[in-house]
Amino acid sequence: MPHSKYNKRLFSETRFEAGFLEDRKTAMWCPFCNHTDTRVVDSRLTSDGYQIRRRRECAHCGARFNTFEAPALRAPNVIKSNGSREAFDEDKLRGGMMRALEKRPVETQQVERAIRDLLRKIRTLEEPEVPSSAIGEWVAAELARLDQVAYVRFASVYRRFEDVQAFREEIERLEKESPGGLDTRQISLLGRRD
Ligand SMILES: [Zn+2]
Repeated sequence: MPHSKYNKRLFSETRFEAGFLEDRKTAMWCPFCNHTDTRVVDSRLTSDGYQIRRRRECAHCGARFNTFEAPALRAPNVIKSNGSREAFDEDKLRGGMMRALEKRPVETQQVERAIRDLLRKIRTLEEPEVPSSAIGEWVAAELARLDQVAYVRFASVYRRFEDVQAFREEIERLEKESPGGLDTRQISLLGRRD
């Protein structure tokens, strides 16, 4: 039977996923008596939905203990424009976005979703380092979807427009990209910021 080996593997994986049976390689050892066979007696999602809590029981001494399964995600370090590295800072990203969105008519829920999408993107990069310019572009893209004024505010700080001409070019680029044209009432508010 050419497929028997494959079928056997598939079968054992299926059983493992269903939580019915674990072999010696996947059953966690008892932390109290070191017995190599413990079984899952309960498995549930934590209230935030990002972890699975399992209640295990040792077949030898009967001790019960919890394990948690959570994604092993680690944000990459950020390469700054001067070449130095620093740890990715979620608060900094959030702060930059909130400043750009200050007093703008955007729902908190939308903002939170945009931040969550950005964080997921950054944490699932599987790269050890990422340039701050790349993160800046992603934030700018999210803001452009949320609110044009917020986008221009962010881009004007982040890209440090050299002069009025560079700023104007960015507005023109935006106008070309927006299918319905840019809302000029929004843009006119820009000059009145603080
Ligand atoms: Zn035990």
